[in-house]
Amino acid sequence: MKNECPSVKYAIIGNSTAAIAAAEGIREIDSSGSLMIISREDRHTYSRPLITYLLGGKVDESKMTYRPQEFYQGLNIETRLGTEVVSVEAGEHRLKLSGGEELTYEKLLIATGGRPVLPPVEGSDLRGVFSMTCWDDVEAIRSYIKTNPVDRAVVVGAGMIGIKTIEALRRLDLEVTALELAERPLSMALDETAGQMVQAQLASNNVDLRCGTTLEKLLPAGEKVAGAVLSDGHKFACQLVVFAIGVRPDTSLLQACGAKIDRGIIANQEMLTSLADVYVAGDCTQSLELLSGQSMPIPILPVAYRQGRVAGANMAGGQETFNGSLIMNSISVFDLPTISVGLTAIDDQDSCGYREMVWRSENPPAYRKVIIKDKRLVGAVLVGQVDRAGIFTGLIKQRVDISSIQDLLLTEEFGVLALPTEYRKHLVSGSGIEV
Ligand SMILES: Cc1cc2nc3c(=O)[nH]c(=O)nc-3n(C[C@H](O)[C@H](O)[C@H](O)COP(=O)(O)OP(=O)(O)OC[C@H]3O[C@@H](n4cnc5c(N)ncnc54)[C@H](O)[C@@H]3O)c2cc1C
Repeated sequence: MKNECPSVKYAIIGNSTAAIAAAEGIREIDSSGSLMIISREDRHTYSRPLITYLLGGKVDESKMTYRPQEFYQGLNIETRLGTEVVSVEAGEHRLKLSGGEELTYEKLLIATGGRPVLPPVEGSDLRGVFSMTCWDDVEAIRSYIKTNPVDRAVVVGAGMIGIKTIEALRRLDLEVTALELAERPLSMALDETAGQMVQAQLASNNVDLRCGTTLEKLLPAGEKVAGAVLSDGHKFACQLVVFAIGVRPDTSLLQACGAKIDRGIIANQEMLTSLADVYVAGDCTQSLELLSGQSMPIPILPVAYRQGRVAGANMAGGQETFNGSLIMNSISVFDLPTISVGLTAIDDQDSCGYREMVWRSENPPAYRKVIIKDKRLVGAVLVGQVDRAGIFTGLIKQRVDISSIQDLLLTEEFGVLALPTEYRKHLVSGSGIEV
């Protein structure tokens, strides 16, 4: 006799920020409905942004857990860790799992995150070539370094993941060459001045950063990587390569179901996809960017968390909405903190109506820039002194008229007390400052 297909009320694919937030959102409303988390990674939920710190020894394993060990039991969550969902049959409300098991659900959350971008470079299948998006990557790199003579590493990409990877490898005392196709590091997150400060910080930490170039091919010694050839013709020896170009929304499970997908899986404000009872949250989706008014992937942890909470609440019958987010980047480069929110630079041809204000100090190095349009703050870049980031973020998000405080924004006196009275009241009685 054929076994009956097991059934759950809520199925969540993924076990990271968006998934955990959704489980918490569900349990706020429904404390007992059966809930299953299915994850390809065979680990208790952990903080993905910390994986490079784990590699570099800046944190140990005990700091990695995103929720305590008793989390799943406490919220009555069944887990299938080390299990991949191989297909979604949305019409039948059915999942197929690796190992052949099938499962039906009433409500489904796709929280599959992003997949590393891996350019098709000759030699990228050699041993010693890695990406940097999960804990297993850390284990694999550590084990390779332990069992192979590695002096010089190449990091491809000097965006957020690349910079964090560079720092980790330097902490392991490796020589590091970093390749960045753009003219400066963190080019998507920072303006030219801030990028130059980051470049100087990398140089003073003995990082060989090469901008405006990338990897042409990798050279082998047997099965292992032994050298790199760059698009500008340079060639040098290296024994470890890490691709850290970024992630692309993992939309694969819903592609076969005919769901609406653009760069990421498309959802409405309730985080419901175009398929009945299928919700989405986190790096695999795209959503409204509040300044540009465009829908795009915003792959950062606070956005994944808020989307997950909204999706979870709605799966359990609540009525919550995710109304969009600002682009925000926060990264420390060898202890030099940097934060950017909203616009970071204005193209000359596009400068109509924008005003930039800048403050800079040489010793210690610090830089603040704000961009204003129509009496509203629309962007901020902070390096070295980032303590105003929260206030600036709130002003941008709430579209506060800053004409009365504009000239104070970059002065030493500026702080919460300088804010317009009405907005201060909102901070106290309203939702406060959020991203
Ligand atoms: C190195 C690094 C540093 C970062 N630093 C920062 C930072 O400083 N600040 C910040 O805000 N953000 C940072 N981020 C981004 C942040 O980690 C992500 O925005 C966040 O993890 C997204 O969470 P998520 O739940 O959407 O997806 P993910 O964290 O990507 O998790 C998705 C999970 O789903 C699993 N999965 C996928 N497909 C399947 C399937 N078919 N079956 C079963 N399981 C599946 C995956 O294996 C994975 O475990 C960083 C990311 C990386 C990689």
